[in-house]
Amino acid sequence: MSTESLRIVWVYPDLLSTYGDRGNMLILAHRAQQRGLSVETLEVRSDERLPTSADIYLIGGGEDGPQALGAQRLLADGGLHRAVTNGAVVFAVCAGYQLLGRSFYAKGTRCSGLELVDLTSDRAPTRAVGELAGVIDPRLGLPPLSGFENHGGRTQLGPGVAPLARVTTGVGNDGATEGAWYGKVLGTYSHGPALARNPALADLLLRWAIGAAHLPALDDSWSERLRDERAAAVTAAARQ
Ligand code: GLN
Repeated sequence: MSTESLRIVWVYPDLLSTYGDRGNMLILAHRAQQRGLSVETLEVRSDERLPTSADIYLIGGGEDGPQALGAQRLLADGGLHRAVTNGAVVFAVCAGYQLLGRSFYAKGTRCSGLELVDLTSDRAPTRAVGELAGVIDPRLGLPPLSGFENHGGRTQLGPGVAPLARVTTGVGNDGATEGAWYGKVLGTYSHGPALARNPALADLLLRWAIGAAHLPALDDSWSERLRDERAAAVTAAARQ
């Protein structure tokens, strides 16, 4: 951790907040505070410089136009690259995930990504909309992923990049794998918001940020109920 407080940045609320992913910041801040950590949250608009010394950067989903503009501004700003070089954690969802890669499609045009992770996104003929579930990379030691997806892009990972999960319901990257992680940069197609539906994933990001192997357990009965409800919905949909 860079300072006395855990610093969490919500990147570009004016562009990449369409799908409710800002909830990821609320969950992270809440779970950190429940462990007695002091937390500073910062929302940085796309016409402002991104600070480079924060601990966790969160990027949300967005429609094609704001996604393309967000990528241009992040590239021009350069702050996210410096933050990653400084060891920051990045958690990016859908449009935010795609723009971390080499390139992505928006409004029929190939756009340059940030090249923070070796991945490329193309456009599929149909949108992937619905529940998204998967078995997370065992090296991360997390329970199954639960989320909701809504995207037209499909993503291929480069050889050094690991998928976040193997898909059991939905599409994710390509119908087989979902999301990616590389160092302390993690991307997913999962909305929900993802960290409300996957509190263990929130704790993984916190552990990466503070360099802790474990965090004290919290009462997660509310999120367990949410996860059970969504898992039951996935099973019921599969039976129809
Ligand atoms: N515009 C991107 C796509 O459709 C991302 C959508 C999103 O963030 N949900 O693929």
